Amino acid sequence: MTKKHIFIVEDEEDILEILRYNLSSSGFTVTTATDGEEALAAIPKSMPDLVILDLMLPGIDGLDICRKLKADPQTAGIPIIMLTARGDESDIVAGLELGADDYITKPFSIKVVIARIRAVLRRKEQPPVDADAPLSIGDLVIDPRRREVRVKGRPVDLTFTEFGILHFLARHPGWVMTRDQIIDAVRGNDYAVTDRAVDVQVVGLRKKLGECAEHIETVRGVGYRFKEFR
Ligand code: CA
Repeated sequence: MTKKHIFIVEDEEDILEILRYNLSSSGFTVTTATDGEEALAAIPKSMPDLVILDLMLPGIDGLDICRKLKADPQTAGIPIIMLTARGDESDIVAGLELGADDYITKPFSIKVVIARIRAVLRRKEQPPVDADAPLSIGDLVIDPRRREVRVKGRPVDLTFTEFGILHFLARHPGWVMTRDQIIDAVRGNDYAVTDRAVDVQVVGLRKKLGECAEHIETVRGVGYRFKEFR
């Protein structure tokens, strides 16, 4: 197996060293940059498998770097995991909506960082789930062609929007989706969906899902995530 190449953008030397040391000893090739200009010059040349991006940087900040990498067709496909301070939910939401794949809040455990890197790399290698393919997750079965949902074989009667939200989240297990991303995915069918309405819909959805409700996890201040395992 070829070593995966991780590019770390972080201005704090001690954090950079902890990441560099631990990722290298976990079998990754590591390159680093301590500011945005250096990162934007180096990433298109080295084309890493994944970027770990601190959002608080001197000069060009992390969100701008994320925007630039995602706007360039050459680098748009490189997964990004953001590093953020706890409580920076609005930056996390902005980053996810710019196309970042995941985020880790400081202070972090190195085990969590490595697990997230592996999860994001794995997700990138899997082909996207066909929008029409039936999904079967534990006791939950979702059939998009029939717009049918079953919990332990029992049919669940969902509204159009509830179905859309559940199906969108379940097709992307493990991904944190912001309310806007959820609205974009289900809109076209229902223009009345707003941020607040997403929360209301999720409350209704969870009630109807009963014992499968725990698959839909609230990510405080950010959005929702579908968990494959309860
Ligand atoms: Ca920083």
